[in-house]
Amino acid sequence: MDDKELKAYREAGKISSEVREWSRTLVKDGANILEVAEKIEAKIREKGGELAFPVNVCIDDITAHYTPSFQDKIQIQSGDVVSVDLGVHIDGFIADTAYTVDLSGNHGKMLETNELALENAISLIKPGTSVSDIGDIVQKTITDAGYKPIENLTGHEVKQYDLHAGLSVPNIKVPYDWEVEEGMVLAIEPFATDGYGRVIESKKAEIFSLLQERPTRMREARTLLKEIEPMKELPFAERWFTKKISPLRLSLALRNLVQDGILKAYPVLHEKEKGIVSQFEHTVIVTEKGCEVTTE
Ligand code: MN
Ligand code: MN
Repeated sequence: MDDKELKAYREAGKISSEVREWSRTLVKDGANILEVAEKIEAKIREKGGELAFPVNVCIDDITAHYTPSFQDKIQIQSGDVVSVDLGVHIDGFIADTAYTVDLSGNHGKMLETNELALENAISLIKPGTSVSDIGDIVQKTITDAGYKPIENLTGHEVKQYDLHAGLSVPNIKVPYDWEVEEGMVLAIEPFATDGYGRVIESKKAEIFSLLQERPTRMREARTLLKEIEPMKELPFAERWFTKKISPLRLSLALRNLVQDGILKAYPVLHEKEKGIVSQFEHTVIVTEKGCEVTTE
């Protein structure tokens, strides 16, 4: 990794960490989740970062890929468990970080366990560590406390403008021994639940990304493809474009583009048995003897 790249990863990490800590005060009873997401996104830009993906605000059994819609009316309630996942990039070099807040006061132990699982996973990371050993320690930490990891969600390598690149980092022990290598940048993200331990897809998607460019006839679809050009293949939210394209035409354009294989949709994921879910995530750069957490 050259100096310029390292500097960009560190800067993205620093911004994501500052915004993450700042955002905690927004997660409170009565807050509208659209406002929460938009405030976080504005803060990232204010600090000179670009969005690596739309801010996710997931409540209770909603586990991932939930970003508010353009007219989202959902308010955070006093009994909610709320996860916030945010991504920052500088010149495409990404920092990905997440945390969960328990407003109910009933899930403190699960959140602590989840944070400990993240810490334990990070403590193992160095060149040569097998991803199965990382998954194993996450699984053990969470199951020892009486919860389950989400077995079909993983951490992931990031590369320039590529949020899910190369290596996956499982949250359970796995029967393969892919190894962590020096210079890799990894997002480590264990999820804990009091439910079944798997996520399933819902029908709704608010997040999309470019799969492959191909000609398209619909005017609004072409406008959208032009708008997302600077993001390359990073995920974007439908609501980012409802001022440029009328919401009805936009949703039609998105549907067509997904159907034609030009865009990929990210359906909202929720816990299989509607268990409460938590998530903690950091991004690390693998160094010669260990790793540097960019999002600390
Ligand atoms: Mn994330
Ligand atoms: Mn991630």
